[in-house]
Amino acid sequence: MTADPVASLPRPRLNAGERARIRRLRTSSSGGGQQEGSSGRELAVVPVASTPALTEQQREAIAHRRAHAQAANTRATYTSAWSRFESWCADRGFEALPAHPDTVAAYLAVADDERDEQGEPRYARTTLELWVAAISRAHRDRQLPDPTRSPVVGGVVEGIKRLRTSSGERPDKAVPLLHTDLEAIVSAIAEHSAAGRAWKPKVYARRDIALLVWSYAGAFRESELCRLWIADIDRAGDPDDKWLAIRLRGTKTTQTHSPTVVLPRGTGSALLCPWCVYLRWLAVVAAYDTAATGLDPAAGQAAGAKAVQRLLRRPDDPTVHLCDAPWPRVTRARTPIFRPIDHGLPRDRKELSGYSFGEMIKKRALLAGYPADAAKAFRGHSPRAGFSTDGLARGISAYDIGRHTRQTVRTVAGYDRNQPWTNNPAEGLL
Ligand SMILES: [Zn+2]
Repeated sequence: MTADPVASLPRPRLNAGERARIRRLRTSSSGGGQQEGSSGRELAVVPVASTPALTEQQREAIAHRRAHAQAANTRATYTSAWSRFESWCADRGFEALPAHPDTVAAYLAVADDERDEQGEPRYARTTLELWVAAISRAHRDRQLPDPTRSPVVGGVVEGIKRLRTSSGERPDKAVPLLHTDLEAIVSAIAEHSAAGRAWKPKVYARRDIALLVWSYAGAFRESELCRLWIADIDRAGDPDDKWLAIRLRGTKTTQTHSPTVVLPRGTGSALLCPWCVYLRWLAVVAAYDTAATGLDPAAGQAAGAKAVQRLLRRPDDPTVHLCDAPWPRVTRARTPIFRPIDHGLPRDRKELSGYSFGEMIKKRALLAGYPADAAKAFRGHSPRAGFSTDGLARGISAYDIGRHTRQTVRTVAGYDRNQPWTNNPAEGLL
């Protein structure tokens, strides 16, 4: 008996979102109902005979011919696919070579969920299949057990195939969350949290309203929004003191520079005023951080809870503007603004995940009375899609929208729902 080399691989520490994605894809595959996760023994191991004693020259002769086995461009494609996987693993602290099957499954499931500007899957099915082939090859070339042959990876690949085929041509297209939706959902949150005397729902309400209003107004990608630190937000310094400047942290498209998004003060209800919703949430975070700073975790949490409760006991009408009031004093500016909430409190130094953000929108839409199907159709990308859709419908040029949303004119045009005669340039000329 030879020892199973896979059994000794450490299993990657996947988060709940990644595990849920893998589960969803595996149950969608024909092999649905398989046991969850991999036992670590599911991998087919290719038995390797003992290495023959070849001369250096013989080895070189083999290597030379193997290198020419693939066309140069295929080799380049495989190399870039492999290095993408390697750097993904490095970022997450996962072993890439040999990779655990769960790592490969999570890698594919996460990529399958990624959406481009139009809300379309960022990676074609064939791209994902190529990645699988590249990972497989990298292992086989080094005579390591091939993780892509495990049932967990097979299930995920099959699930991706089926989900994409069954949902038709435009699978998972993000339904735009329009201004009317934003208004309805935000009002429902405010009413719901005002109804009781409990303080915890008010904490969630302030955060979720700020998230929703900002994601729409700034047309942020989920990752951009969740990564923001308190230190990234400031007054823009314009003469009217009307604009809030938000410096984006490096994202996929902005690795070389950090563009700034500016948001105006709202002119209608404070519930939709980008300044007010931010300051109301910042007040909670600042109260917690200030009380908790310098204490050990347990004492910090207790002190933080008291401070937050004290803040929320003060009467507050969220429809009244407070953007003229002094800003709360901040103790930890270099920490995420939008954090997960635990026992009603913003978690220390943690950033909300893009996945949780998307789930929040669905849940809030459901609570606002949207039918389950409609609520579930929203995604983290929906407010961004809604902003461009609304902008075009209001006759704002795709160029101006794109300048704000950091998109090309062509991408913005993809959200156009106008009739051909809307804003028709021929009309005024004749
Ligand atoms: Zn305001």
